[in-house]
Amino acid sequence: MSRIAYVNGQYLPHGQAVVHVEDRGFQFADGVYEVWSVFDGRLADFDGHLTRLWRSLDELRIDHPMTRQALEMVLKETVRRNRIVEGLVYIQVTRGTARRDHPFPAEGTPPSVVITAKSLPLSKGNALAAKGVAVITQPDIRWGRCDIKTVGLLPNVLAKQAAKERGAAEAWMVDDMGLVTEGSSTNAWIVDEEGKLRTRDAQSNILRGITRAAVMALIAEEGLELEERAFSVDEAKRAREAFYTSATGFVMPAVSIDGVKIGNGKPGPIATRLRALYLEAAERDAI
Ligand code: PMP
Repeated sequence: MSRIAYVNGQYLPHGQAVVHVEDRGFQFADGVYEVWSVFDGRLADFDGHLTRLWRSLDELRIDHPMTRQALEMVLKETVRRNRIVEGLVYIQVTRGTARRDHPFPAEGTPPSVVITAKSLPLSKGNALAAKGVAVITQPDIRWGRCDIKTVGLLPNVLAKQAAKERGAAEAWMVDDMGLVTEGSSTNAWIVDEEGKLRTRDAQSNILRGITRAAVMALIAEEGLELEERAFSVDEAKRAREAFYTSATGFVMPAVSIDGVKIGNGKPGPIATRLRALYLEAAERDAI
């Protein structure tokens, strides 16, 4: 019997069960999931898992895709169509399909729903449990590898959405020491009180921006002083200039941070010059 998946209102054979390339689950990991075990074709801990699913959706402000009753029916129907006696049923709900952009899509964009089910005989687990299993230890790095350009961008999405809701273009993320790491999709820079260019040193906690590296080369060519050293939010608010870099924004002067005016509240001369230099070099060297 071929396996059947529920995808956005349809029960489809696995070979045809697909979501759009612009689905936010695929693009940003902007979604949640839940799993129920199935005993004798019935779902275990039904309320517990459903309540957690609802909570996960609410925390991320993703619309409920359907009512509790409707979802219960669809989950059971997926189990039934796959003739699962012992096994599990999996649901994933994402923020839907929209042109790729970090902030939430337009209100009313329907969430995507995918439900799959698979058999997992209880006897297998029981055999394992009779012998016991081995475990190992691993550092908990969830998710401390911001140097990897992964699609696991949910925290970045939430930061960008917060910026949008406060009338800002970008959110600078701050570590537990009060130091700026980077923007939600950009690298953060200041010209500090002494007039020195500063951007955070690239460890595992920031993405090594390609634009960041190109701007560093321009800074060296210009004979300007640069320190790759973290700066605090307070230092940023007292800075002469602030700006951010990325492949889509190039060099973007920031004129306020959390409502505090930076310098005279206008794009600074260094950021403005670096933007012009970057655009000139990028256009010239583009292949
Ligand atoms: N930091 C993050 C988290 C980003 O997503 C990006 C851009 N994708 C950047 C920095 C800037 O990198 P780049 O200059 O290579 O675009």
